[in-house]
Amino acid sequence: MKTALVCGAGGFIGSHLVNRLKLEGFWVRGVDLKYPDFSETQADDFVIGDLRDQNLVDRVVDQKFDEIYQLAADMGGAGYIFTGENDADIMHNSATINLNVLEACRKRNNKNIFYSSSACMYPEHNQLDPDNPNCSEDSAYPANPDSEYGWEKLFSERLYLAYNRNHGMNCKVARYHNIFGPEGTWQGGKEKAPAAICRKVLLAEDGGSIEIWGDGCQTRSFLYIDECVEGSIRLMRSDFEGPVNIGSDEMVTINHLVDLARGCSGKNVGINHIDGPQGVRGRNSHNQLIYEKLGWRPSQSLRTGVEKTYSWISSQVGCG
Ligand code: NAD
Repeated sequence: MKTALVCGAGGFIGSHLVNRLKLEGFWVRGVDLKYPDFSETQADDFVIGDLRDQNLVDRVVDQKFDEIYQLAADMGGAGYIFTGENDADIMHNSATINLNVLEACRKRNNKNIFYSSSACMYPEHNQLDPDNPNCSEDSAYPANPDSEYGWEKLFSERLYLAYNRNHGMNCKVARYHNIFGPEGTWQGGKEKAPAAICRKVLLAEDGGSIEIWGDGCQTRSFLYIDECVEGSIRLMRSDFEGPVNIGSDEMVTINHLVDLARGCSGKNVGINHIDGPQGVRGRNSHNQLIYEKLGWRPSQSLRTGVEKTYSWISSQVGCG
C-alpha cells in the first residue's frame, strides 16, 4: 500500500487532498494544529501537533513515505496577510515549519516532497495593470513581492530547490493562485474573496448592499479546489520540479465575482465600495508552463465553482 504524509491536513486544501489520496487507496498520515473545521478527517492517522517543533516533526517523519505534501503555513485572506499586523508571525512560523520538515525528511531519506508556494511571491511591479498582469514563472526575479507572506514563500521555494541541488532530494514547488471551494474558511477574517463575497451576498437583504474593499476593478483568477488537488498530484508524480503555477487563467474583476455570487442568490444586491486591504491591482495565473510540462489545465468555469461554493456556504449559514 502506498503511503503519504500531509502536513496541514486540517486545513482547507490539505483536508481535500487527504480525501483524494484515500480514494486512491493510500495510507495517509495527517499533521496539523487542528482537525479539519467542517468534516471528519479521512486520514488513517492524524497527529495534532506543532510543526514548528523539530522534535514533533522528527516523530511524524518516522518512516519512508511515497509522497509528502507540505501545505502547513500561517496564512489567511487579505485581512490577515496585507495589514502588516501579522508579518513577524507569518514569516517566523511558516519558515520554521519548512526548515523543520525538510531537515526531518532529509535525515530519513524521504525525497518526494510537494511544497505549496503562492502567487503572492510574484513582483508587485508586474501586477499594477489590472488588465495585463504578468505572473509567468520566469517573471519572479528581480523579486518584489508586496507582502512578507510572499517573501517567505519565495525563501522557502528556494530552500526546497536548494535541497534538491545539494542533498539529491526530489521536491516539487507549485505556486497556487487563489484556491476556493466548499469547506474553505468563510468567516472570521481569514476567508478569501470568493467565500467572503458569497457570505456577504447570502446575508444581504434583497435590495440591500454589501461592502467591497476598493473599487472592485482589481482583477484575480480563482481555482476550484478539486482542480487544485488534481494539479498538485500531477506535479508530485511528474519529473518536473517547478516552480510552476497551479491556478486558473479565467481572470475577472472583483465586481464580476460579486455578479456571479449575486446570480446564485437571485437577489438584487448593490455594492458599497469602502477602503480596505486589496493586495496587488491585477493577478492572473499564467498556465503555459504547466500545460507544456504536465499537459494539464483547469477544466471548470469560475461560474460553476462559485455556484458550488455558494450552495455550500448557504448550508453553513443555515447551520448558524
Ligand atoms: P489553511 O490555512 O486552511 O491550511 C494551512 C494549515 O496549516 C492550517 O490547518 C493550519 O492549522 C496549519 N498550520 C499552521 N501552522 C501550523 C503549525 N505550526 N503546525 C502544524 N500545522 C500548522 O490554508 P490552505 O488554503 O489549505 O493553504 C494550504 C497551503 O497552500 C498553504 O501553504 C498556503 O500558503 C498555500 N496557498 C494557498 C492558497 C489558497 O488560495 N488557499 C493560495 C496560495 C498558496
